[in-house]
Amino acid sequence: MLCNRESGTMEKRYYHRELETMPRSDFLACQWQKLKEQIEYTYRKSDLCRRQFAQTGLTPVDIKTREDFTRKVPFTTKQDFIADQQISPPYGTRLAVAENEVFLTYLTSGTSGRGQEVHAMTEEDYHFYASEAIAMLYTWCGWKRGDKVMNPLPLGMPIGGTLRYAGLLRLGCDIFNLGMYDTKAKLELMQRFKISGINASAAYLQALTNQAEEMGLDPGRDLSVRRILMAGQAYPASFVPRMQEKWQAKIYDYYGATQYSVGSTCEKGAVTEGRRGYYHLFEHVALHEVIDPETGGPVEPGEVGELVVTPLFKRASPFLRFRMGDKVRYFPPEACDCGRPFPLLEAGTIARYDDMMKVRGMNIWPQAVDEVVLGKPEIAEYKGRVYISDEAKEKIEVAVEFKPDASPEARRALLARIGDELREKTGVSFITNEAAETLPRYVTKSLSLRWADERIKGLEKKRMD
Ligand SMILES: [Zn+2]
Repeated sequence: MLCNRESGTMEKRYYHRELETMPRSDFLACQWQKLKEQIEYTYRKSDLCRRQFAQTGLTPVDIKTREDFTRKVPFTTKQDFIADQQISPPYGTRLAVAENEVFLTYLTSGTSGRGQEVHAMTEEDYHFYASEAIAMLYTWCGWKRGDKVMNPLPLGMPIGGTLRYAGLLRLGCDIFNLGMYDTKAKLELMQRFKISGINASAAYLQALTNQAEEMGLDPGRDLSVRRILMAGQAYPASFVPRMQEKWQAKIYDYYGATQYSVGSTCEKGAVTEGRRGYYHLFEHVALHEVIDPETGGPVEPGEVGELVVTPLFKRASPFLRFRMGDKVRYFPPEACDCGRPFPLLEAGTIARYDDMMKVRGMNIWPQAVDEVVLGKPEIAEYKGRVYISDEAKEKIEVAVEFKPDASPEARRALLARIGDELREKTGVSFITNEAAETLPRYVTKSLSLRWADERIKGLEKKRMD
């Protein structure tokens, strides 16, 4: 049932045996060929890329080595994408194929203060990613043809639910798309159909656990789940063995982003013998760099830096060296003894360099909340927090301080209106309250000072009751 973690005789679960057992030097040589092709393709097809190169006088012939690439090619940022979309809505001048060749259009989640990125895939892009990224990571966590697996996300404009579905289809799993059901109904279906694999963020796994216990179910005894795949959210290392024990299941974790960046824990799982595992970056899909955000140079093994991604195969919306804004801890391939030739990130510790918050899978920017709340003349200040509720749900709350002349009726109406506007703007339901005390005033531009993220603390609690 569970891998034998003590004996070290864990069975390797290869998806591409040849690729995954290749010496690193051979792998790098193949990767460089793909990278060169993609640089030429992107330069030829993307106006955004040509504008970026023109600013430094660079052309693809100047990029003769990997070092040339990481030293000379300018970074791409979210702001570049947003500005590019304004030049040529809706896809931007980086759209590299005719519009009728677009097979799937998707957006970064949340309609934020910083704008939504528009991405496109051709049919080839879609099948490549489903097969080479998602089906591969599912294989690593032990899922195979015929396994009953839950996809808890709806099919929406953010691509998470669609890609999980595509990868599971590719693998031939028996898929349960339960995005439309509440937690209780999900658990009933899991029990009824003996679902053996689930996708769930750490916070959602805690919510499923609490709900199961409320229904009188012991997850390990009464459900058939043996493999759980979490999704890149930060969690305390102690959370994993505690949940493995409760569910009698092995827990894996993967990191994925709209921009074609992906990595997954191998068969060792998210935490082994008390130590965090690693996301093995899928370097046949994208080139990853971890840079010092100040200098732009690479960080040393064990150091923290910003993840930069260049997809190696992307026909519809290609780009080079995108700065993810994710704060990651880098390790070289040999830090994990599974032998795969991919560089590693520490699992379960990814944070942000900017003040973006990910709440229930949606990107929320404090600026978007500021625009709604501080745009009301009756409001003097607010504070926000993200936390895990007693029912183990991820919640986001704003507590506002009214100016003294606002009447009680006006206050009630305004709290409701702010709640509606925030939901409309971000796609997430907020709790809105009146602050119990006078709040500190912020004049600085660092707006995230108004916010507290209490989720890790929530997951550290032994039980929510
Ligand atoms: Zn490994």
